[in-house]
Amino acid sequence: MSNKASVLPKARIVIISGPSGCGKTTLHKALLISPLLKGRLVKSISATTRSKRPGERQGKDYLFLSTEVFEERIKKGYFLEWERVFDNYYGTPKKQALNLLKKGINVLLCIDVKGARTVAQEFPKALKVFIKAPSMKVLESRLKARGSESKESLELRLKVARRELKEAKYYDHVIINADLNKALGMLQQIVCHELGID
Ligand code: 5GP
Repeated sequence: MSNKASVLPKARIVIISGPSGCGKTTLHKALLISPLLKGRLVKSISATTRSKRPGERQGKDYLFLSTEVFEERIKKGYFLEWERVFDNYYGTPKKQALNLLKKGINVLLCIDVKGARTVAQEFPKALKVFIKAPSMKVLESRLKARGSESKESLELRLKVARRELKEAKYYDHVIINADLNKALGMLQQIVCHELGID
């Protein structure tokens, strides 16, 4: 009997989660352009209903959608997973991720802990990495330094961060981002090792 699974490409989903302000955006962007992973790990562009931050580009950082369009797409089964995070919708478009996997390209999802759980149920082999700031105090000062959050948004992000940190134990690896270069080194090492890239 032929074993179909053995001839399928062994691409994997890599999930990076962590509280807002922990540095996961900077880290994942650096990860994607690292020489060993460039072209072998591609980020899934999430859709969101939140407003664009300065410098963000439509279709590059996020697919920015209206609430109406997002809700229509939920109904049509457009998302692999979707969640409400900080009073906005965020979701992973299904087709894009599945097409990459079919081509044998590993897919990076930078998603919240609830979305990560949903994806991990469907893809038990997904590699899950959690990024932490060294402390809540450091997280708060990083969020403040970003300057893009209102007082309410900052409070909400800190409250959600406390909840998200409790989920770290369900991840395959936890990286404490005290020093960006060291954290990036660890992330590269973990991802390359787990994906069998050297
Ligand atoms: P931000 O607004 O700071 O870009 O992202 C807020 C949170 O939403 C982060 O924790 C981020 O990882 C999460 N997020 C971004 N895209 C997605 C997605 O497609 N699905 C889910 N579940 N969370 C997402």
